Amino acid sequence: MASEAKDKKKAASNGGKSKTKVYQNFIAGKWCDAANGQIVENRNPAMWSDLIGTFPHSPKEDVDRAVKSAQKAFKTWRLVPPPQKAKLFFRLVEILTERKEQHAFDMTREMGKPIFETRGDVQEAIDTAWYASGEGYRMFGKTVPSELNNKFNMTIRMPIGVCGLISPWNFPMAIPSWKIIPALMSGNTVVFKPAEMTPLSAHNLIEAILDAGFPPEIVNIVHGSGKEVGTHIVNHPDIPVISFTGSSAVGKVIGRDASYMLKRVSMELGGKNAQIVMNDADLEHAVDCAIWGGFGTTGQRCTATSRVICEEGIHDAFVDKYIKAAKKLKIGYGNNEGITMGPCVSEGQRKSVMDYVEIGKKEDGATLAYGGKALMKGDHADGWFHEPTIFVDVKPNMRIAQEEIFGPVVSVLKAKNFDDALKISNGIDYGLSSAVFTKNVDQAFRSFRDIEAGITYINAATIGAEAHMPFGGMKATGNGHREGGWEVYEFYSETKACYIDYSGKLQRAQIDD
Ligand code: NAD
Repeated sequence: MASEAKDKKKAASNGGKSKTKVYQNFIAGKWCDAANGQIVENRNPAMWSDLIGTFPHSPKEDVDRAVKSAQKAFKTWRLVPPPQKAKLFFRLVEILTERKEQHAFDMTREMGKPIFETRGDVQEAIDTAWYASGEGYRMFGKTVPSELNNKFNMTIRMPIGVCGLISPWNFPMAIPSWKIIPALMSGNTVVFKPAEMTPLSAHNLIEAILDAGFPPEIVNIVHGSGKEVGTHIVNHPDIPVISFTGSSAVGKVIGRDASYMLKRVSMELGGKNAQIVMNDADLEHAVDCAIWGGFGTTGQRCTATSRVICEEGIHDAFVDKYIKAAKKLKIGYGNNEGITMGPCVSEGQRKSVMDYVEIGKKEDGATLAYGGKALMKGDHADGWFHEPTIFVDVKPNMRIAQEEIFGPVVSVLKAKNFDDALKISNGIDYGLSSAVFTKNVDQAFRSFRDIEAGITYINAATIGAEAHMPFGGMKATGNGHREGGWEVYEFYSETKACYIDYSGKLQRAQIDD
């Protein structure tokens, strides 16, 4: 563990009595306070008395300054050859790798998921930077035959301008990296607003980018609220590209406003993902994956397994083993040894979980089979902990089977057969991730074809995206764009069709033979 991580661990365990660290925005190539001088506290959700630091609570004027700088920087950054940009991303890989343990520690401290998970979150940023450093040597266009003689056709990719990037708190470094890295690699500049609850991981990423040697003016971070900073980014006339990850409720407003201004907008929103378990599934494996998918990140993943749909023949055995496995989860502060599930990210998030448990208990026919309570005593008294919770006898139309809870609550439903399981799986507004446990190859291929989701796993949990694969969802989960892999580069660049006529005479497409 890095020495600063050790100091912070001490601070965390003594109630955070060390000196409060003051963090800043990075705008126009300089670290600076919010223009209005306001700050907000960042606290540890597992130990609320542990104050991590203060961050700016910026007004919209800070966005204006950031946009001006990013516009100016775009003029030169767009002309830097992609292979030169690639070398900076390679350096970023090295820096993030050196700092991985420290960044993981900080992330666990500010949002709660256990350190083995936050190491994965930082690794996702590293992998995304690796991919970008390779992409810098590709950035392919296409050469296409012309319909006319002595004429050459090709496409090239063009950067677009200033990208406004808005991220949630559950993947505090991975999701910002999915946006910032391809945006910059494509030749754009960035104004980034991270989630209010995870400003430190966002700060760490920006610091690493600057230390890698990128021109400082191309990347700006403006901390602040969604209402003020977020809304101003979305509606700013000089930001032509918006990439947002967050709730569907906010996404609908952003989608409406950004589309009205004819912006390019990518939205990755909520999920209500199902794991289907067929009678022939490997039971132990299906249980392990449903534990990881349902309670990893305390269920606060857009891809969380919040529904398990069991075929009738395996249902009872699955529920029995699932409850036994849930009992083994060790709940606490994720920087402590052996912890497997952290707190909810905030008091409000836990309240929302508690409300859904009450809704579930009142749903006609649903049974609370395990958990159901907030943990408020002993080691848990100073944080926002909640038991892993399992409902059984859940019917597809119940609210706990339809609405995103974003907490450690899983609903188990029964299906008569594979067709019934598919129908239940698809019978929701969302369409992000899905998983099917079966040994039947026909069912595996039918799952790929028939499940209405952007991601389908066979015999693996609904969570666990890889950085070089496209990531995103169908239906109310988004508007059709994808993050990750090669697809996200389409979003951050325009395609230009280029023609060169070397015939020396007028040639008319569609008219001359
Ligand atoms: P949220 O929608 O409350 O906030 C997300 C971000 O948007 C934050 O930075 C917030 O400050 C900002 N924001 C809020 N209101 C805004 C507005 N009116 N205009 C502009 N910006 C605004 O979501 P959250 O609670 O941070 O994250 C949880 C949600 O994110 C869940 O619904 C989850 O499923 C979703 N999520 C989706 C994906 C995905 O890729 N599909 C990944 C992670 C999280």
